[in-house]
Amino acid sequence: MSDELRRKGQRFAKFLSELTGEQIAEGNKANFESAQNQFERFKNDYNQGRCYLCHKELKSFSKRTPCIHWLLKPKGFKKKDLLAIADNYGYFQIQSLLRWYANEESFGKNINSLKEEGSGNKLFEVTIKYKNIEWSFSCAKSDYMGHEKSQHSKHAHYHFQMRVDNRPYINFNDFHLPFSEMDILHIETMHSQSARVKQR
Ligand SMILES: [Zn+2]
Ligand SMILES: [Zn+2]
Repeated sequence: MSDELRRKGQRFAKFLSELTGEQIAEGNKANFESAQNQFERFKNDYNQGRCYLCHKELKSFSKRTPCIHWLLKPKGFKKKDLLAIADNYGYFQIQSLLRWYANEESFGKNINSLKEEGSGNKLFEVTIKYKNIEWSFSCAKSDYMGHEKSQHSKHAHYHFQMRVDNRPYINFNDFHLPFSEMDILHIETMHSQSARVKQR
């Protein structure tokens, strides 16, 4: 199933690579505008102590409505609730929202991305801090390809770590979190773009 998704991602990347400059400029403009609108909505909710996605209070936790704001560790959140978040939201959605929180506290200082394009065996490795919480994401090439024969780890996945007050709360090896279909399209697009840059 992962293989099929990866192939679909590769086809999508090829489609993108064949767009003309004008089409790309149009797309970028639309993306930029919608990103700006979303960020303004985020700020608005944040200033009221509310979640940009579910509009509930950031301190609230309701098992029936899994949401990324749970990673701020509202009362009631348990580490295995992470699976419900990852089933409902993709890697890039989760990471983008956490970056927004980090930047609200201190712009540019709270995010540490260790990955350099094409280096080592990691596709990405990012640490994001907000208040007393530190979130880290890690994905090696073998995680992306699926590395074991168990149900969760054989599909494209990433690993997640969460520290609270500098103490481990969720460890990288606790879970294999699935990439969404959009994540895989996105990753395949990044791959084909960086491959083309290298060819030039
Ligand atoms: Zn929420
Ligand atoms: Zn893994």
